[in-house]
Amino acid sequence: MIPRYHQALDFEALWREFPPPPDYFSGTYRLSRDEMRAMQEPRFLRQMERAWQVPFYRRHWSAAGMEPGDIRGLDDLARIPPFSVHDMRESAGNDPPWADYIGIDPAEHAPLPLILQTSGGTTGLPRPMIFTPRDREVMNIITGRRLYMQGVRPFDLVQVALSMGLTNGGVLAREGIWKYTGAVPVMTGSGAQTPTRRQIELIKAWKAKFLIGFPAYLRHMGLVARDELKLDPRELPVKGLIVHLGTDDRVALEALWGADVYDTYGCNECGTMAAECGHKSGMHVFEDAFVLEVNDPETLQPRSEGERGVVFITTLFKYAAPMIRYNMNDVTSVTAGECACGCVHRRITKIFGRSDNMVKLRGVNVFPEAIGAIVSEDARTNGEYVCVLESAEGGRESMTVMVETSDQSMPPGVIEGELADRLKEALGVRLEVQAVARGGLDHLTGLSQTSKIKRLIDRRHSASS
Ligand SMILES: [Zn+2]
Repeated sequence: MIPRYHQALDFEALWREFPPPPDYFSGTYRLSRDEMRAMQEPRFLRQMERAWQVPFYRRHWSAAGMEPGDIRGLDDLARIPPFSVHDMRESAGNDPPWADYIGIDPAEHAPLPLILQTSGGTTGLPRPMIFTPRDREVMNIITGRRLYMQGVRPFDLVQVALSMGLTNGGVLAREGIWKYTGAVPVMTGSGAQTPTRRQIELIKAWKAKFLIGFPAYLRHMGLVARDELKLDPRELPVKGLIVHLGTDDRVALEALWGADVYDTYGCNECGTMAAECGHKSGMHVFEDAFVLEVNDPETLQPRSEGERGVVFITTLFKYAAPMIRYNMNDVTSVTAGECACGCVHRRITKIFGRSDNMVKLRGVNVFPEAIGAIVSEDARTNGEYVCVLESAEGGRESMTVMVETSDQSMPPGVIEGELADRLKEALGVRLEVQAVARGGLDHLTGLSQTSKIKRLIDRRHSASS
């Protein structure tokens, strides 16, 4: 039997459960907190039931003494042991790509139309994720919702400067755009797939209204337009930049392009989980599909509004690889107050960094992303940076922050000393600063070639071996 995509899904039923735009915004988006909770409860219990069929959870939960039926509702969520990407890596080892967290066994189960995408995989083989038609379609609907929230409308051209390969970002954007917004995706991919100058020529010729990409790459694109092609990005038709903003400088990017910058949060396993609306006051979590916790990384207790903690995500829709208390290792905080759009669902402020990207330097916790935020505040740099971690003789560790200057004529000595002082003041630890000419870090960060931009180079182990 060869499975057919459209027979694998009851679209009408799915759209009632997870309304695409614009219906979502007159329905689910307006639910009160109690109504939302009532919607989540049965979805959560169904997700738990499915998870017990997945070998990874049977193993992981049984080891913690859990039994099916122990968890009777969302009030019990905190009793479920979380897991992280390290557990998934172990689980993937047995019979890749049919990792036992996916819960589909080709030797046993009826065929389904499946797709496979992966994590970025900076070291070793990337982590596979398999999506069923329903899983994928929910993710596409949510992609459509977030783009609609950020102004995308039928016939708009949306240029997607994300790789179209193994990783999910570009492929998912394309599916969400053409299936659920009526806009037209233009898949230029990374700078290695379509050179940056050509990407800019296309924006101009075809009048792309929105750009999707990593903020560093869109900044690079704006600077290439302005300084190399002598095209003012503000004169181009782009009116929205849709990015994972993190700690990047929104104001500078908006000024460069003369366009709104919208933050969004997602991952390879689940797609978009939260996104800003037009008011840009925190990212609304799509709570009909996700329960998002912000917890203390040590005690696992929930953090109060405004306090930083790590994201645990629980999906409410996935058949292949349901995610139950997946510790994302991303640091954020819950936004206080209400958004002017009237939606009262949980919001998160921004992603401050990855807790596993954090470096402990002479007793101080340092996030490369926080360094980047300080670098980008200094107009004498173009915001590009990479942190190089080394161990010197005697075991003392040092970090050198390499930055690119925005102006070739500037003596680098001035900026290096002043920026090092500023970093010391903000972070409480002395870092070396080394300034290079524009483009001088490209070979280290991969900025113009990949969408997985490197901000931290750890040379501690290679130096000692
Ligand atoms: Zn809002």
